[in-house]
Amino acid sequence: MTDCLFCRIVARQSPADIVYEDDAVLAFKDIYPKAPVHLLIVPKRHIASLMDARDDDANTLGRCVLAARRLAETTGYAEKGFRLGVNTGPEGGQAVYHVHFHFTAGRRPRSDA
Ligand code: AMP
Ligand code: ZN
Repeated sequence: MTDCLFCRIVARQSPADIVYEDDAVLAFKDIYPKAPVHLLIVPKRHIASLMDARDDDANTLGRCVLAARRLAETTGYAEKGFRLGVNTGPEGGQAVYHVHFHFTAGRRPRSDA
């Protein structure tokens, strides 16, 4: 079994509250939400961090961004707006080394985050 938490979630070997899936992307609720809506959007293929992304990951990563647009529509934040963030590396606050986009909505964003 992989030691990557998000690969295990993709493989259904760890539980998660999944809200969206297609062939390249999975989205699920953050277990410790920091906003009224806090989702994580991950590529199904393991990419440890944005610094490990290669040119041929462009399509996969773009699909994660487009999944955010779809989630904005399904969660009711298409007009009100939302944030999409990728913490990268130790000083960027990355704790899980499988690229993920934080989708947060429903609260005013902090100016530094
Ligand atoms: P980051 O600090 O950007 O690496 O974010 C990791 C995120 O994963 C945090 O917001 C955690 O709350 C979240 N997280 C950790 N474990 C789980 C889990 N089992 N299911 C869902 N979200 C998780
Ligand atoms: Zn992984």
